[in-house]
Amino acid sequence: MMDTIAIIPTMQNQIPTRYQEVLTRIEKAALGAGRDPASITLVAVTKTWPAEVVLAAYESGMRDFGENRPEELEAKRAQVEVVLGRDSGIVWHGIGNPQSRKTNLAADNADVFHAIDRLRIARRLSARAQQTGRSLQVMIEVNVSGERSKAGFDASNWSVSPTQRQALLAAVQEVHDLSGLDLVGLMMMAPWEASEPEIRQLFARTRELGLWLQEQLPATRLPCLSMGMTNDFEIAIAEGATHVRVGRAIFGSRG
Ligand SMILES: *Cc1c(COP(=O)(O)O)cnc(C)c1O
Repeated sequence: MMDTIAIIPTMQNQIPTRYQEVLTRIEKAALGAGRDPASITLVAVTKTWPAEVVLAAYESGMRDFGENRPEELEAKRAQVEVVLGRDSGIVWHGIGNPQSRKTNLAADNADVFHAIDRLRIARRLSARAQQTGRSLQVMIEVNVSGERSKAGFDASNWSVSPTQRQALLAAVQEVHDLSGLDLVGLMMMAPWEASEPEIRQLFARTRELGLWLQEQLPATRLPCLSMGMTNDFEIAIAEGATHVRVGRAIFGSRG
């Protein structure tokens, strides 16, 4: 425990440099793909790090923060708001799959929720948002790799499986129609074990799926693609990511 406390200040000193390095890599990847770097949101993933780390990151210029556990998001957001107030310009992103009994916490504390992996979660978020009068931007998580450990709507065969396409269309339509939720796109996580060409193809298929869904359901707009983490964010940007969720490259390993 003493070690952890001693290490945090050292790590905080490195945040500005590491952040600039990540920004430079994002810019390079975007320009290399003929994209505007400003069209990409860097979500700084602060899970497991204390509120002081968020404050140091804020001072370095970061404004978008990602947390995967709703209870941690709630506590950290409250601690940060004690210092910075409620108009700090921070956007809090819920990026993990909550248990359904934790969805109220997510609905109350996330501004953007990336990880709708089943309709039950979407319905609960919607019910809570209507109760509290909040409005939540949301993305639907898709599993394009078919990896069983990955959450999300099954999209492993979407281009050839009518059953999967029907299920995906129905999900997008329902989430689009739910009050209190503003559906803005798709989220995916690449498998840990895949090779670079495989990962690239999975990102590309996610983008194609988003375009196809939009074509089928013209009332929906799905401009956002949340994909890419420390290990693969440059590939994700080349394949169209609008949100990259990066933790370790900015803050170091999570111990
Ligand atoms: C932890 C996490 C990240 C960030 O991972 P890094 O490898 O630290 O960049 C991104 N997305 C989700 C859903 C996560 O849980």
